[in-house]
Amino acid sequence: MRNIITTLLFILNLNTLYANQVESGYWKSGETLLSFFEKHNIPQSLYYNLPKEDQESAADIYAGTRYFMAYQDEKLVELLLPISDELQIKVYYKDGKYQFTTLPIAYTTIEDTFVIELENSPYYDIVKHTGLRSLADEFVTIFKNSIDFSRNIRKGDKLVLSYEQKMRLGKPHGSPHIKMAMIETNKKPNYLINYKGRYFNEKGIEIEGFYLMRPVDSSKSWISSHFSPKRWHPILKRYRAHLGVDYAANTGTPIKAAADGRVVFIGTKGGYGKTIEIDHGNGFKTLYAHMNNYRSGIKNGSRVKRGQIIGYVGSTGLSTGPHLHFELIRRGTRINPLSAIKIEKDSLSDEEKREFQALLSSYKAKIEQTIAQNIKPKKIDIFLDGEQVALIAQTPLQTPSKKEKI
Ligand SMILES: [Zn+2]
Repeated sequence: MRNIITTLLFILNLNTLYANQVESGYWKSGETLLSFFEKHNIPQSLYYNLPKEDQESAADIYAGTRYFMAYQDEKLVELLLPISDELQIKVYYKDGKYQFTTLPIAYTTIEDTFVIELENSPYYDIVKHTGLRSLADEFVTIFKNSIDFSRNIRKGDKLVLSYEQKMRLGKPHGSPHIKMAMIETNKKPNYLINYKGRYFNEKGIEIEGFYLMRPVDSSKSWISSHFSPKRWHPILKRYRAHLGVDYAANTGTPIKAAADGRVVFIGTKGGYGKTIEIDHGNGFKTLYAHMNNYRSGIKNGSRVKRGQIIGYVGSTGLSTGPHLHFELIRRGTRINPLSAIKIEKDSLSDEEKREFQALLSSYKAKIEQTIAQNIKPKKIDIFLDGEQVALIAQTPLQTPSKKEKI
């Protein structure tokens, strides 16, 4: 058992030498770092003494996030809690007191390019062959506006996909990244190429996905802090994350819904203060924090239109001054609202068009080769924590059991 513990401590970057028990858990909806501290007898001052930016990045830990705890004689001696794909909070007991720091998350990246012949639907067949539901979701999302799968696909049509997936402890970590995809409709190929984080068809035309508008007028605001999943802070000597974009503006400046959707949260949310969350469908949500007040009439369940005023800039919660903290959440992961998603439609420059054409030709060659060699997806099914997950064979990490006691 000591070996299992040691391996787990090593994989997780847990530095506690004397831990004799490691547990994992999933963050519950509504749970906060403060309530977690209370439950484990960690002084709340540890949280309140953190810089505001750290309090903010820990303000909204996504429900379902998997975390690890090390115990020594029933006392929590270390907590590792991811706040993004890249960064985790580490709370540890040292020199007679609890301390706080952050650590990069170790992961491996696997890459696969494969062809499958469709038997059922693209979604079903991708899940069946790769075990990755998130990959199927991603595939369906990117083609959503250009192909009607229910009408145009025939049995035997081919699908080629090239993607990357981060893996951690034998499990997919974060969303898959599709580099290129081809699907036949009645034996005719349709391509989508990921170029600079956006999807283009064979003609170099961007396929409309999800458009956001700036939530505060540019004439009335400026970006005071950009999105960063992991940024080195030279004075604190550790990494910190900023999982949204901050727009500094005067108190009372109107905040607009960035896209059509439905309000799924309105109220005070820990360090975020007065907050609204809007669900836009297809797994996308936006979050607006530190609001001074909400627009009257906006309530849970309200349908809102892109550009509609939902509230006003303020400084509620843990905020250093009036600003809007704006987040874009894609299937549980906070992503950069400014680069991952187009703010405006714009076309490629001549130089970009040349670059895109070169990329397209190399991908087409790869697709032909994949089909010619009939390269199948890699998949191994294992059972972990009672649920079926896909583990790709090359992943070097071992799989820990959920709870190991010496
Ligand atoms: Zn912020």
